[in-house]
Amino acid sequence: MASHSPASTAARPAPQSDIPTYEAIVVGGGISGMYLTYRLRELGVNFHVFEAGSDVGGTWYWCRYPGARFDSESWTYGYFFDEELLQEWEWKEHFSPQPDTLEYLNHVADKYDFRRDMTFNAKVVAAEFDDAANQWTVTFEDGGQARATLLITGLGVLSAPTLPNIPGLEDFQGQSFHTARWPHEPVSFEGKRVGIIGTGATAIQAIPEIAKTAGHLSVFQRHPNWSAPLHNAKITPEEQKDIKARYKEIYARCWETVACFIHHPDPRSALEVTPEEREAFWEKLYSEPGFGIWLGNFRDVLTDERANALMTEFAARKIRERVDDPVVAEKLIPKNHGFGLRRLPLESGYFEAYNRPNVRLVDLNEAPIERITAKGVKTTAEEHELDILIYATGFDGVTGPYDRIDIRGPGGRSLKEEWKELPTTLYGVINDGFPNLLMVLGPHTARGNIPRNIEMLVDFNIGLIRHMRENGYTRIEPRPEAAAEWLAQVKEVDALLLSSKIPSWQTGVNQNVPGRQTPRVLGYNGGAVRYRKTIEKVAAGGYKEFKFG
Ligand SMILES: Cc1cc2nc3c(=O)[nH]c(=O)nc-3n(C[C@H](O)[C@H](O)[C@H](O)COP(=O)(O)OP(=O)(O)OC[C@H]3O[C@@H](n4cnc5c(N)ncnc54)[C@H](O)[C@@H]3O)c2cc1C
Repeated sequence: MASHSPASTAARPAPQSDIPTYEAIVVGGGISGMYLTYRLRELGVNFHVFEAGSDVGGTWYWCRYPGARFDSESWTYGYFFDEELLQEWEWKEHFSPQPDTLEYLNHVADKYDFRRDMTFNAKVVAAEFDDAANQWTVTFEDGGQARATLLITGLGVLSAPTLPNIPGLEDFQGQSFHTARWPHEPVSFEGKRVGIIGTGATAIQAIPEIAKTAGHLSVFQRHPNWSAPLHNAKITPEEQKDIKARYKEIYARCWETVACFIHHPDPRSALEVTPEEREAFWEKLYSEPGFGIWLGNFRDVLTDERANALMTEFAARKIRERVDDPVVAEKLIPKNHGFGLRRLPLESGYFEAYNRPNVRLVDLNEAPIERITAKGVKTTAEEHELDILIYATGFDGVTGPYDRIDIRGPGGRSLKEEWKELPTTLYGVINDGFPNLLMVLGPHTARGNIPRNIEMLVDFNIGLIRHMRENGYTRIEPRPEAAAEWLAQVKEVDALLLSSKIPSWQTGVNQNVPGRQTPRVLGYNGGAVRYRKTIEKVAAGGYKEFKFG
C-alpha cells in the first residue's frame, strides 16, 4: 500500500491510535468513489478513499484493451454536478473510447483535487465491524489497517475479473492478458498469432480491433452473444455546441427514460403492428446509434416471448447478411437466449471481422478446451499455437467485488455467506445485519446508464449521513421488515422481465466461479425512475425505514 499519513489530509482530527481513523472510509476510486469524494467533502465529513489501482478511473483505469469504449452516449455519461465542468469538457466521440474517458476522469480528479483524499495501491481484503464501538476496521493486502464509523463501498458491478476454469493457465510461455487487467503500455499484435477466449461484451469490442493488425486471430467461443451496431462517430463542432447548449434537456431526458439513457421503449407492441411496420422500425433502429435497438424497441420485446422471438429472428437475419460464411454465421447466432435478454453489447464491425482471412472462429461446443499449454490452447481436436493469449472472460458481476473482501458484521457474520443465496438489502444501499456499511451500486439498485444511478445513490447515501450527523447518530441499519419488503418488491418487478431467467453477469451467473451457476435476483428491474421516486419518498419521510442509534 502506498504510504498514507492522515496528516496529509488537511484539517482532519488526529487519529486515536496509530491506525488512521476516520468518520468514513470509501473503498473504490472509480466514478462512484470520485463523486463520493466531492459530496463527502462538501458535507465536511472526515473521510478517506482507498483504491486498489494506482490511480482514479475504476473501469476506465483497468479496462485498457483495444476497442474498449462505453455504449452510453458520452454526453449522458459524464458527471452533471457542475455546470462549469459540463461546459469546459469536450467529448470527442459520441461513444467515448476508454483513453478519452480516462482522460476525462483524470481531468475531473485534477480539477477538484480529489487525489488529496485518496490512497492508491490500497486493496482492501477484509472489513470487520466492532459492534460495541460502532466502527469498521479495514485491512489492506499489505496488512495495514484503517478505521471508520462508516464504510462506504464504491466497488462497481464489473470490477472482479474472472479467468476461465481451465487447467494450465500458468503454463503458457507467450504473453497473456485479461481484458480487465490490460497493461498500461501498448501491446503490438503486428504479425502475431493471437488467441482470445470468450465472445462477451469485451471480446466483441476487442476482436475487430485486434484483427486489423494480428497475423492470425483465433476466437475461442463457447456461447455467442447478441450484438448490434454502435454507429459511433466523432462529435462535430456544431454538435459540440448543441450538446453544451442542451445539457439541461439531456439530463432531464435521462430521468424520463427506463434506464437513464436517452432511449425509451416505443409504446406499441411488436405484435400489434403489421409485419411491414415492424420490419421498417427495426431497420431504422438497426441503422441508428446507441441502445435504441435494445431500450427504444417495441415495449414488449423484452417482456413477451412471442415479441422477443420475432426480434430475435430479425437480429439473426442481420448476422446471416453480414457474415460471408453461412456455417460461421450460424455459429455466431445465439441459440440459448433471445435478443436483448443479456446486457446487449454494441459493436463496430464485429461480424465483418469474421470475413477476414486472418480470423478463425473456434467452436468450443464441437471441441472443448482441454488445457492451456506452453505453446497455446489445446482443444480436444487440436493445439492452437499462439504468441498472445487474451482472456476476455468477464467478471464475477455485482456481488463478486464484495465476495473478494472478507466482510464481517456483528458476531463475525460473513457477508459472502449471507449473499450465497440472495442479498437482503434495503434499497440496495445497506444489507440487513451489517450496520454502517453503505453501498453505491449494491445489489438491488437500479442500473442502466450507470453514472446517473451512481449520482442518485451517492446523493441518497449523503442524505443518510447528513441525517446521522444532524442527530448525533453513530449507527445505521435497515429495519428488517423494511428490508424484507424491499426484497419482495425487487422480486415482483424482476419476474416481469424475460432476462431475469437468463444466466448472465446481471443475474450473478459465472461458469468460472464455484457456486455461481444459477440466476439470482441482483438488480432492481422496476426502472430508475420508480427507484428514484421510492428513495426520494424515504428521504422526505425522514428515513423511517432505517434504524439509527
Ligand atoms: C468494458 C466495460 C464497458 C462498460 N460500458 C458501460 C456503458 O456503456 N455504460 C454504463 O453506464 N456503464 C458501463 N460500464 C459499467 C461501468 O463499470 C460503470 O459505468 C462505472 O464505471 C462504474 O463506476 P464505479 O466507480 O461504481 O465502479 P468501478 O469503475 O468498477 O470502480 C470500482 C473501483 O473499486 C476498486 N475496488 C474494488 N474492490 C476493491 C478493494 N477490495 N479494495 C480497493 N479497491 C477496490 C476497483 O479497483 C475500481 O477501481 C462498463 C463496464 C465495463 C467493464
